[in-house]
Amino acid sequence: MAEKVIREGSWICPHCQTKNRGAKENCDACGAVRGNVQFIYEEDGQAVTDAAEKAKATAGPDWICAFCGGSNAFDRQRCQSCSAARSDGTLREVKDATVKGGEGSAKRQYSPHATVAPDVRIEPVKVPLPIWFKAGCAVVVLGFMALMGLQCLSFEDTMTVAGKEWRRSIQVMQYQTFREGAWRGELPAGAREIGRQEKVRSYRDVLIGYKTVQETYTEQEQAGTKKVKKGVRDLGNGRFEELWEDEPVYRDVEKTRTVQKPQYRQEPVYDTWIEFEVDRWKDIEKATAQGTTDEPRWPETGASPHPRDVVGEKREGAREEKYKVTLKSDKDGKEYQVEELDNKPLSYEAFQRLKPGDKHKVIISGLGLVKDIPGLAAGRP
Ligand SMILES: [Zn+2]
Ligand SMILES: [Zn+2]
Repeated sequence: MAEKVIREGSWICPHCQTKNRGAKENCDACGAVRGNVQFIYEEDGQAVTDAAEKAKATAGPDWICAFCGGSNAFDRQRCQSCSAARSDGTLREVKDATVKGGEGSAKRQYSPHATVAPDVRIEPVKVPLPIWFKAGCAVVVLGFMALMGLQCLSFEDTMTVAGKEWRRSIQVMQYQTFREGAWRGELPAGAREIGRQEKVRSYRDVLIGYKTVQETYTEQEQAGTKKVKKGVRDLGNGRFEELWEDEPVYRDVEKTRTVQKPQYRQEPVYDTWIEFEVDRWKDIEKATAQGTTDEPRWPETGASPHPRDVVGEKREGAREEKYKVTLKSDKDGKEYQVEELDNKPLSYEAFQRLKPGDKHKVIISGLGLVKDIPGLAAGRP
């Protein structure tokens, strides 16, 4: 049900800045005649209930005198200040009110054209990041920048090749027979069946009937109504008219209902399980050779040079090689283990060029790692 409430507003005297009640036609402080002032809507202002006051409020807007600028009640025929005729004056406008307390105000703002109850207006909430999180991020970023800085910093030193180590390995594979099992239709290529049997592969639900059970659920029910202010109009005479409407209020109600709950039985699903033999290559061992100053070589594997898919036959798989050189600083005698240069594993070619006792110009990073040996890439020791 819609309802209208008349509420007295206020106005500020342009001469002395005193705030006056809306119905006052003269300033309480300086006595100045209320001119064409702006009326202010007061959400908490006094509601007009007196019949005579209500009649004044709804009679019509004030009119502004054409000669002295004073404002006069709607039904006054001559200006209360200068007696000029009403017909020369201008009627104030009756309009939607600008409601005090806009964005950022603690007071709720009512739009006169609101189609949604103001109570359900949802302000976006900004969740600030916790301070420890920001501090943690800063530490990580600073640490990372410090590491990058150290990595980019570099020093030059002359070093002597003090030691060498190499290690080479080859994966050895053998063609073998395996006994395995699989569901019918899922056997690998070349499988030789040995035997089969029916086995439970899965279970499926079979409906066997229904059971009557009581179930609780929650339903929304209207619990009543609440008054919601839908708009405010400036009546042009120091009073405002609020439009209130009833909106339903709901509550959760727990209810019980009878339902037929399906009952299931688990039934096994059978399939054919096949045991079979299959031949394939398998990694069996890793052959490794290692040394220090001698010429790097690949290990003996005993594999066939031309392997065939015959059970017992061996063949070579993936190869790995790793080189390490120990450099000793001429300046302070400190030793450096070099396994990579310029972020790449030490190559066989570089390893060969680093002869024991040779001196090389070396670049060391701020982190104390050998970054590069510039002479090596060009082939000049
Ligand atoms: Zn005043
Ligand atoms: Zn006048």
